[in-house]
Amino acid sequence: VTEKVSSLKITVYGQVQGIGFRPFIYRTAIKLGLKGYVKNTKNGVVIVCQGNRKKELLETLKFSPPPLSIITKITTKQLMLKPFNEFQIEKSEAHSLPREVIQIPPDLSICKDCTKDLLTKTNRRYFYPFTNCTQCGPRYSIIQDLPYDRPNTTMNIFKMCNDCQSEYENPKNRRFHAQPNACPKCGPKLILLDNTGKQVIKDNNQKIIGYVQRLLKNGKIIAIKSIGGFQIACDAKNPKAILTLRKRKNRPKKPFALMCKDIRVARKLAYISKEEAKLLKSSEAPIVLLQKKARNFISEYISPQNGYLGIMLPYTPLHKLLFVPIASYSSINKKLFNVSRETLKIPDTLIMTSANPKSQPILSNSKEVVAKLGNIVDYILDHEREIYSRCDDSIVFVPKLRGIHTPNKYPVIVRYSRGYVPRPIYLAGLDLVPTLAFGGDLKNYFALGVKDRVYLSPYIGDLISNENVSFFFEMLEKYERWFNIKPEIVVCDLHPNYISVRLAEEFQKSRQVKLIKVQHHYAHLLSVYTEYNLKDSAIGIAFDGTGYGEDGAIWGSEIMVFDDHGYERLAHLTYMPLVGGDNAVTNPEFIKNVYWDVINNRIKLTSGTVMTSSMGRLFDAVSAFLGLCKTQTFEAEAPIALENAALEGMKTFSLAVKLPEDPNSYFDCKTIIKDLLALKENGLPTTTLALWFHKRIVKETVEIIKNISAKKRIKQICVAGGVFQNRMLLTEISKELNRLKFKVYLPRIVPINDGGLALGQITFGRKTKKY
Ligand SMILES: [Zn+2]
Ligand SMILES: [Zn+2]
Repeated sequence: VTEKVSSLKITVYGQVQGIGFRPFIYRTAIKLGLKGYVKNTKNGVVIVCQGNRKKELLETLKFSPPPLSIITKITTKQLMLKPFNEFQIEKSEAHSLPREVIQIPPDLSICKDCTKDLLTKTNRRYFYPFTNCTQCGPRYSIIQDLPYDRPNTTMNIFKMCNDCQSEYENPKNRRFHAQPNACPKCGPKLILLDNTGKQVIKDNNQKIIGYVQRLLKNGKIIAIKSIGGFQIACDAKNPKAILTLRKRKNRPKKPFALMCKDIRVARKLAYISKEEAKLLKSSEAPIVLLQKKARNFISEYISPQNGYLGIMLPYTPLHKLLFVPIASYSSINKKLFNVSRETLKIPDTLIMTSANPKSQPILSNSKEVVAKLGNIVDYILDHEREIYSRCDDSIVFVPKLRGIHTPNKYPVIVRYSRGYVPRPIYLAGLDLVPTLAFGGDLKNYFALGVKDRVYLSPYIGDLISNENVSFFFEMLEKYERWFNIKPEIVVCDLHPNYISVRLAEEFQKSRQVKLIKVQHHYAHLLSVYTEYNLKDSAIGIAFDGTGYGEDGAIWGSEIMVFDDHGYERLAHLTYMPLVGGDNAVTNPEFIKNVYWDVINNRIKLTSGTVMTSSMGRLFDAVSAFLGLCKTQTFEAEAPIALENAALEGMKTFSLAVKLPEDPNSYFDCKTIIKDLLALKENGLPTTTLALWFHKRIVKETVEIIKNISAKKRIKQICVAGGVFQNRMLLTEISKELNRLKFKVYLPRIVPINDGGLALGQITFGRKTKKY
């Protein structure tokens, strides 16, 4: 009879699959001389181990887990078991796992090891644009079904060669069970097409990349198939190329995102803090909005009248290779382009913008690119790995906030997509009935919640085109299937004319589920409240473009006292006539004129006039009053120009910002505009006036909060809404409140704009459990 030995059973819960978790445990266990096994079970990853250094394995899990894992809980149990001979990875029981336990990891930016493989001449993956491993590469965008295994991905048409197969089967290899594993011998290849879809050169990957580099250098505009869809690229330092792209896209001023060769190149264009550098290099690799350094003509072409540049670093092997000069192919280039090797400098910064027709989702196959963008791009760099689910590049920024309750390491999310979807958002304190939230009409996302998890969809876009609505339902079908969630409750906005509301009502009828509607700004604030698992009442500041109010007016500057049961609206900007409806792209000059007429009592307000307390509209009007932006060509152009002027104004500002003596006159649009125009009469420069306006709004907001706090004895403040993409406003209000010992909570896991609505809606939906 074999004697039993002391054994430790560890169960790990959370996102622990598809990211090389079991190989990590295996390698650690071998290093520590442990015996036993690791396997996936219904309840998470289970490790049973024997040996003297068992505790060290536990410590590794607690203090330095695999970088891509999200561990929500670890439990341990002491056991007496028969001794094991070795440490093994037991076969996955994936098929028996309930779907809700299985998770789909996000697409991950290329890791250091794969980058090394890619650039090492002797490596068999040298210059191979589809190199990946368990720590990096596509996931979400290629997974068709679960469990996450190669036959269920779009890589299923490629049969692994012997070398790849043996890596795949070797637990000691970092490509062990790397589902998209591939090499030049067995994996997908690049294809270069012209804008009619005709193949240009039929050749190997290196030649094609070399050719594309020259095309970019020569000012051509190229659609490039990335991880979650096509991007449109051109040389960001070639004014002619940029202006051609702007003209062809009919996009006169909207900023373009940039991809810089590396962080050194990025630093020449923008100020980059430690946190921002970390984000740029993270496995999410989002576009980070960075403060412009050199205000030269190039940066003004990329983002005119804008204090920031959206920059990302190459996150796929293909992107990396675009920036690596191909010396060995210079002879080919010489023949093709008639240039000598010395002049073969290639761009170190590219415009890299989502390839989508206006108000439509990002495109993911070259046929669509030919059909819909053939008149915009000159060439199409296509490849053979199919994109099953699309996602745009994500966008974040780091508010420069010291001591704010939001830990600095968390960025503010502007767009939630690649790198983030579809990972679950775990929320302590929630126990959700399966719930579906439809979000808002602009910057739409849906969310599916069950138990303590919420899955936020990728960025869908504005629900104003059939294509975006189809994209919504395409992703909803996938999310329901993947995560096995059948919604029992549906939540949407209050707005009677929202398309999302109509869709929710239809969904309710066809599925026979319960429908709940929730006020827009309350949903904004609830999402922050939920994220931090707050208790008791909080004061909420929701500054926004538009959202339907309970009184039929369009709200947008709401200060509320609220909790998860309800809210009390305590302050907002005085009502002004709503000009231009709920459209994102408004006409600031027109708004200005109407506001001017109201100030001068020249306008007759009838009972039919829709009124608004929108902070966004006030920013639009002020931008026009200061002559900064009269007509917008894209959403928020006017307030962005206003913030840009205010940033400039910081250099010389020395004005005392006075408030009205009567606190009842705070948030009065007429008074604010009149005071601004009086200063303008005195001949103050526009930049000073722009900054004065920001400071005035900050001061009035803080005073209002102080008054409410004194009466209600509340010290916790939630901040949300699209207007807070204005970093100056967000930073100054938060800083000032923080100085006054308030606890300020900013959204950090869902977008701060309308993209955050769906989470708040889900939270509201759970109330129905009680009734
Ligand atoms: Zn890798
Ligand atoms: Zn291979």
